[in-house]
Amino acid sequence: MLKLIYEKSVKGRKGYFLREDSYKEISLKDCIPEYALSRTKKELPEVSEVGVVRHFTALSKLNYGLDDGFYPLGSCTMKYNPKLNEHLALLDNFIYAHPCVDEDFVQGSLQVMYELNQYLSEITGMDQFTLSPAAGAHGELTGVLIMRKYFMDRGELRHKMLIPDSAHGTNPASAAMAGFNVVEVKSNERGGIDLAELRKLMDEDTAGLMLTNPNTVGLFDENIEEIAKVVHSKGGLLYYDGANLNALLGIARPGDAGFDIAHLNLHKTFSTPHGGGGPGAGPVGVKKHLIQYLPTPIVSYNGGKYFFEDVGEKSIGRLRAFFGNFSVLLKAYMWILSMGDEGLKETAETSIINANYVMSKLKKFYKPVYDRFCMHECVLTGREYKEYGVKTLDIAKRLMDYGFHPPTIYFPHFEPYAKETIMIEPTESESKENIDLFIDAMIKIAEEIKTNAEIVKQAPHTTPVSRPDEVLAVRNPTLIFKEINEDR
Ligand SMILES: *Cc1c(COP(=O)(O)O)cnc(C)c1O
Repeated sequence: MLKLIYEKSVKGRKGYFLREDSYKEISLKDCIPEYALSRTKKELPEVSEVGVVRHFTALSKLNYGLDDGFYPLGSCTMKYNPKLNEHLALLDNFIYAHPCVDEDFVQGSLQVMYELNQYLSEITGMDQFTLSPAAGAHGELTGVLIMRKYFMDRGELRHKMLIPDSAHGTNPASAAMAGFNVVEVKSNERGGIDLAELRKLMDEDTAGLMLTNPNTVGLFDENIEEIAKVVHSKGGLLYYDGANLNALLGIARPGDAGFDIAHLNLHKTFSTPHGGGGPGAGPVGVKKHLIQYLPTPIVSYNGGKYFFEDVGEKSIGRLRAFFGNFSVLLKAYMWILSMGDEGLKETAETSIINANYVMSKLKKFYKPVYDRFCMHECVLTGREYKEYGVKTLDIAKRLMDYGFHPPTIYFPHFEPYAKETIMIEPTESESKENIDLFIDAMIKIAEEIKTNAEIVKQAPHTTPVSRPDEVLAVRNPTLIFKEINEDR
């Protein structure tokens, strides 16, 4: 039975041992200021050192991560990231560089930020980046605040922000946080923006359009030039959600397609492992006419020295303390350098080939939402299996019994196209053999549903927790474990 560490607590047991003649006891009051002292005694577990080590080792073995196997979580780009970059990001000179230290002592770190800015600009076709935002959503907020400032500066009052029905939920949330009213744009039957609808909605009260391309159903919107024209014809700005840049590296650039602002998710495309909440980085790039509104400061170079430069009075201000999640920036910088131009392009091409391979092998068993060439991810559905009483959730759970992390399900969920969705993103870092194993498992599950639906409906059978009550698990996360062998 796997117990909580609190349940393993034995009164008086200690995790350390010090010889009594090697120290003298002092009162906590002598080393911590009065105001910071806790007034209540904390209930902390009392366990031995080996007890702690074994407890967390056992827990870590229950985890499933990229280092365990295939992790095709659509929209997240859960790919293998070279360990070399982790190693270099841990070098002493980087991790001990204090953000308050004089610029002269951290010229190398500033050079990394300056050059990363140039690389990202080159990759996306934008003119200048801020590296401050800590995530994609934080980048979106930065972007829409820049839009707001831009229109205020021009003396225009614009209230609306257009967002496609297929968009990631952070898009409308960010727009709303910046004070815009979100207006939904419908998708057409090919999965792209409905141009007629866009022409109707885009007016002089609209700040612009937030677009993901390839979008969240893994499709490239081939009308992008026309979309840009419509938005710009009414004086609006076009925002690029770059979470899917993995599919475009070295192939196409949002800056060339008419986007004015773009955020990237370095923790998706650029060599930072993620999941579990960070750290991430969501740099935001803008075209020339918006540079003056970027958050302050940015790193500049005068030919001899790298330094922080104030963006000026039109800046949206400071986004956060200090300058961004530096270790994430560093890993992106190293990854770009080690890949080179050709390597980046190959990343995108391979991720597209892998997704299309999965789709073409599985589409007989799981109907695609849109049966057309996809980009780096494909969206299938489990609709046909409802008649056996099986939901897409059950299929995802059953995959765990076959040793795979389930793909993203029920996203995007806009009507009428996307019901019972299964969104698969194999990424470029999986071998054909691994992808084939996954495809085999998906086909086996499809067969099981027809012959023995119960085994799918009750899956997973091999995990310590089978099916938590999902509402209860969110509201009151007390887990009840099945008997399992702690030494396994
Ligand atoms: C992941 C994602 C985001 C949000 O990025 P975070 O780094 O998780 O805040 C926004 N849009 C799309 C399309 C995404 O996939």
